[in-house]
Amino acid sequence: MKQMRTISFAHMLTYTSDVAESLAEVLVGDSGGAFSHVMYATSGSEAVESAIKLARQYHISKGDEGRTEYISRFEAYHGNTLGALSAGYMKSRRKPFEGMLCPGYHHVSAYSPSEQEVLDVTEYVHRLLQEMENMFHSIGPERVAAVLIEPVSGATLGCVPATSAYLAGVRRLCNKYGALLIYDEVMCGMGRVGTTHAWQSLGGCAPDIQTIGKGLAGGYQPLSAVLTVPKIHQIMRDFDAGASFVHGHTYQGHGLGCAAALAVQAFIRDHHLLENVRTQGVLLGSLLHRLDSHPHVANVRGIGLFFGVQFVEDKIANRPFDHPINTRVIKECFDVGLAVYPCSSVDAILFAPPFIVNSEEITTMVNIFTGVLGNIAQL
Ligand code: PMP
Repeated sequence: MKQMRTISFAHMLTYTSDVAESLAEVLVGDSGGAFSHVMYATSGSEAVESAIKLARQYHISKGDEGRTEYISRFEAYHGNTLGALSAGYMKSRRKPFEGMLCPGYHHVSAYSPSEQEVLDVTEYVHRLLQEMENMFHSIGPERVAAVLIEPVSGATLGCVPATSAYLAGVRRLCNKYGALLIYDEVMCGMGRVGTTHAWQSLGGCAPDIQTIGKGLAGGYQPLSAVLTVPKIHQIMRDFDAGASFVHGHTYQGHGLGCAAALAVQAFIRDHHLLENVRTQGVLLGSLLHRLDSHPHVANVRGIGLFFGVQFVEDKIANRPFDHPINTRVIKECFDVGLAVYPCSSVDAILFAPPFIVNSEEITTMVNIFTGVLGNIAQL
């Protein structure tokens, strides 16, 4: 209400606003020196779309006009607009639009080790990085604009954190071939894993461009953003001091969105909620891991308040159910008071409770879930 009485909307292609600038200062400040600039959007999809286009314009500014290609990963979700949908690989959402997806997106395997591969994760990471390097070569490394990945995959694979060795390896490949590294932290970022950015909990390897959304304004208003390291802005300014990113949306940097995000971020800071995410995350993980021996639980994985549980019909043979059971689990949980989220590429659900959750609530959540799985065991 206070923001609406001050100013709700200033068209950011022409004007700026105190609230948008204050939020940008907080976001840059919270990045530990990684990021220097912020561009706002409204949804996660718009942020991803902006990041993709920004990478392209950066290379044009550098005189590297040939870089039009992107490497992203199978089983990723980056949003529903055409560029983001083409970069991702959520089959169900792509299917009706197959004929009109954008060219220039090349998919490699996502980070999602099997039980066997977890046992030799070094070899697994080596294989994935080799596959990505091969992809650079088959495209032509001088044509790759950026690699786009989620450090912790969310909606599709269900909370699979990449290892620091994998993220550092992807960073090395991008540096070696002159491509930018884009992290999509729309789901896993802004505190969800216990640090402001997920990569800060996964070895500290920063990207060049990063998207954030969801938790940024905590759902009180729609707001997303693209964060960039200094060289993006510098090189674009060197190219043409008066030029700016050729992109924009009417409602970017909307005053209400920025005011909501400022309030949410201040609340997180003042109430030490990242600490709570880490503490409650340890409890959530340890309680969920008690289900490791459940006959239909294939795997529990996650970090912070972001955990996935994957189901199998036959654990020994590692055989999935013919018809995924996650929608049934979700319905049964909901009927008794627990909301869990469906994963789309695997038969899994994910837990992503609010940052203010307490130990009692975490215990209740896992008890409800365990009860529902008890019914499933009698299938
Ligand atoms: N990227 C990721 C990683 C996401 O999880 C999502 C939404 N689930 C998006 C992008 C798209 O965000 P939105 O739905 O706000 O467009």
